[in-house]
Amino acid sequence: MTIKTDALIIGAGPSGLFQIFELGLLGIKPDIIDTLPTVGGQCTELYPDKPIYDIPGIPMCTGQSLVDDLMEQAEPFNAGFHLGEEVLEVTPQETGGFRVVTSADKVFDAKTIFIAGGVGSFQPRKLRQPEAESLEDECLFYRVKDPSRFAGKHVVILGGGDSALDWAMELAPKAESLTLIHRRDEFRGVEASLATVEDLVTKGQAEIIRSATLSKLGIESGQLVSVDIKGADDEVRTLPADALLIFFGLSPKLGPIAEWGLEISRKTIAVDTEKFETTIPGIFAIGDINNYPGKKKLILSGFHEAALAAFAAKAIIEPGKKVNLQYTTTRPIMHKRLGVEDEE
Ligand code: FAD
Repeated sequence: MTIKTDALIIGAGPSGLFQIFELGLLGIKPDIIDTLPTVGGQCTELYPDKPIYDIPGIPMCTGQSLVDDLMEQAEPFNAGFHLGEEVLEVTPQETGGFRVVTSADKVFDAKTIFIAGGVGSFQPRKLRQPEAESLEDECLFYRVKDPSRFAGKHVVILGGGDSALDWAMELAPKAESLTLIHRRDEFRGVEASLATVEDLVTKGQAEIIRSATLSKLGIESGQLVSVDIKGADDEVRTLPADALLIFFGLSPKLGPIAEWGLEISRKTIAVDTEKFETTIPGIFAIGDINNYPGKKKLILSGFHEAALAAFAAKAIIEPGKKVNLQYTTTRPIMHKRLGVEDEE
């Protein structure tokens, strides 16, 4: 099934989320896609609890609270959210508009596109073992889609952050055995989660091995059967393993965006500064992903770019119609779109 949309936003970081709002004010309901299962881009992925001091009118907020507020601001416009899928293809159509295909095989027919892809889509950092690729999604996983498949299995988790701890907590009671291995002594994740996993260790439902790394995958008939773990003392221990879960964090990759025929230099897309349009008419690029003379990779730059790109897109979506600037303070049409009452 093809989803028809006036505006398709690629990337749900702060720029993409504010793009929903700016389009909404002009009466356009967009769809938005992100590779990650959650919105917020760098703000939520890299610094959710760190304070930000340079958002206009907000003396201080955190990465996560900014994203929460952007979501609240965008809410009246009922955007279609498509999370956990990467945009793979963008192809101009002869009849106008674009055909967009995602990693979930979803197809969109979009009149305009807003690339808000930041520094690229966040991908899990992979295990550097020659056999790792052939085991992926069979017995070696970078994401958990179906926790039930680990019931009754010997599960080994590598990593020291929140994902590693969260899945250790969730899977330990169901697994035959669960071992959490971290290359350092100190865990990066939330202390309360670590305390819960340590409690599971006390109950005999889990084991934690600190300051150790994986040295070898034990494979029989194409299936993982064990892992060799090397400790700080260079001693190697073999553990039974049916499933290996790897949480080494995420790193951004420009990925498929580089293949859409846009003018790209230094992993960014060239745009004009009137409309923030790329070299392909109808495709706009905002936020960290774009470049133009004087560009500064700041959240506030993406907000400004989103406003101007929205006005330019409106002229494509409704050709021939005059696009007026209207204040949210005083215009009833704005209040209607925002879902707020007019004052008597
Ligand atoms: P991003 O936040 O990078 O979001 C892009 C999204 O696009 C990602 O979620 C990605 O998964 C998605 N995506 C990419 N390609 C695809 C694809 N093909 N398909 C689907 N989805 C895709 N800025 C400030 O102004 N003030 C600060 O104080 C500040 N502090 C910072 C601190 C740190 C530690 C870091 C790392 C950055 C900081 N920044 C700060 C910079 C700020 O975070 C970025 O400017 C901002 O996040 C850019 O927003 P964006 O929406 O353009 O891109």
